[in-house]
Amino acid sequence: MSVKEQTYIMVKPDGVMRSIVGEIIKRFETKGYKLVALKMAVPSREHLEKHYEDLNGRPFFAGLINYMASGPVVCMVWEGRNVVLEGRKMLGATKPSESALGTIRGDFCIDVGRNVCHGSDAVESAQKEIALWFPEGLCEYEKPTVSWVYEN
Ligand code: UDP
Ligand code: MG
Repeated sequence: MSVKEQTYIMVKPDGVMRSIVGEIIKRFETKGYKLVALKMAVPSREHLEKHYEDLNGRPFFAGLINYMASGPVVCMVWEGRNVVLEGRKMLGATKPSESALGTIRGDFCIDVGRNVCHGSDAVESAQKEIALWFPEGLCEYEKPTVSWVYEN
């Protein structure tokens, strides 16, 4: 639950093509989280298979890799108290039909295979994903507004 907890958030190719990048960044930024890494990438299929290795063998795996390899993605690391769990809440349920309105998936998509954004599901997977997507490391800096976001 530390203020230094980090999560990996990625705008998927449909989010980029549909111009939802700024909206997704805005939601994490205005919530109060700290951006510590950001880049655009066109990942290889091997890289995507590694990212989704836990899902290998599922019936939708091939379609998922095709979808994720279909265009550029925007990769981010956001930092803050309980950001992994809170970030998942901000994304909404995996299936947009089950995502509450007000969440990213609830507001911006319809189909599970085009659900616009990825977010780590646990602190451990976040650490793995951050290492996979940002081997170059993250940006270290202090935000002077920290006491306006956290009471303690
Ligand atoms: N997915 C899909 N069909 C399914 C389940 C998942 O196409 O029945 C896709 C969807 O894009 C999802 C991704 O696979 O975001 C990863 O699945 P996971 O269960 O990890 O969901 P997430 O963590 O993204 O909510
Ligand atoms: Mg997942």
